[in-house]
Amino acid sequence: MYKSFNNVQKITFGRGSLNTLEKSLEPLKYTNNNFCLFIIDNFFKDKNLLSKLPIKENDAVRFINVDLHEPTTQQIDDLRDNILKENGTPSAIIGIGGGSILDLTKATALMFKNKGSSAEYQGLNLIQKEGVYHIGIPTIAGTGAEVSMTAVLTGPENKLGLKCDYTVFKEIILDPDFLSTVPKDKWFYTGMDTFIHCIESENGTKTNTFSSANAEESIKLCKDVYLESNSGQTDLNNEKLMIASMMGGLSLTYSEVVVCHALSYGLSKVLHFRHCYANCLIFNHLGEIYSKGVKEFKEMLKKNDIHITVNLSENCSNETVRHMSEVAYILEDMWIHAFGPSWKE
Ligand code: NAD
Ligand code: ZN
Repeated sequence: MYKSFNNVQKITFGRGSLNTLEKSLEPLKYTNNNFCLFIIDNFFKDKNLLSKLPIKENDAVRFINVDLHEPTTQQIDDLRDNILKENGTPSAIIGIGGGSILDLTKATALMFKNKGSSAEYQGLNLIQKEGVYHIGIPTIAGTGAEVSMTAVLTGPENKLGLKCDYTVFKEIILDPDFLSTVPKDKWFYTGMDTFIHCIESENGTKTNTFSSANAEESIKLCKDVYLESNSGQTDLNNEKLMIASMMGGLSLTYSEVVVCHALSYGLSKVLHFRHCYANCLIFNHLGEIYSKGVKEFKEMLKKNDIHITVNLSENCSNETVRHMSEVAYILEDMWIHAFGPSWKE
């Protein structure tokens, strides 16, 4: 079966490439209400980032604390309504942060052009109109949100993506210098998300040459970053991790993620663990399914002195465990990728 997907139109990569943002914004400034909206991770509020950004007098800047919760539909609607009231429709939206900020940016860009609440568009191809021009600048690497066609949002009913061709960023700037301030544990968990994307996209019925070529290279880069003799948070490894994240995202776009992600959705939805950490908690136990990948994962844990908690669900009620299982069990497409059409057996 073929898949068609939009890709990012313009990619700029390299240390210091943040400086190219001004040039990118130049041709956009006379569209819509002639201002840019910058959505920035709160971590950078007191870090002198604003002085490095081409912010003009009438631009709008919003710092967002992503540690409070993962992106919600209510948050998107409020942000859009607030900016519309105060400034109008932006010429461009620039998201600077991790997967949470990138998803917030993608969804907000769509909701300036699509009426109603973002909760109405959770699902596949429900968005009607192309959004505002949006640029993604990742500051932590691994989720692949910079290239994916999904903005994962928690809504009143579900945690589900706004997924369509219009969601994809028009442009991304991959500046590895941002990664130098990421704390080691977050650097590890988020990077492992891409490693797991690749292991899962490769090992299943939907794998194909496009997907596995990206996965293979991404896994190789992850091993350089987390396992080989020159591993660690160096400048070169931060460059490698940014590219690994992008390739992992492409790999899963053209295939599927499965067992670890399906189970971790249950863990996130019911016990509120964050995406990348939840994946590590689960992957640690999947040796029976992904033996080589899990063996390497454990070596990477050891090499980086990261300890994964076990027995977290020891005191969970049967009801809680059943709820988590149900969240995972309904993801039929994923399970078919893992075990084929007769997966229920
Ligand atoms: P995040 O955006 O949730 O941020 C994690 C933490 O890292 C935060 O505390 C943040 O402040 C901090 N941080 C970010 N950059 C930093 C820097 N340069 N220095 C210091 N601290 C920094 O991180 P994430 O793990 O990239 O994203 C997780 C989110 O991505 C979840 O909401 C998940 O649902 C989503 N996700 C989306 C996709 C997709 O395809 N759209 C895929 C996987 C995950
Ligand atoms: Zn993931």
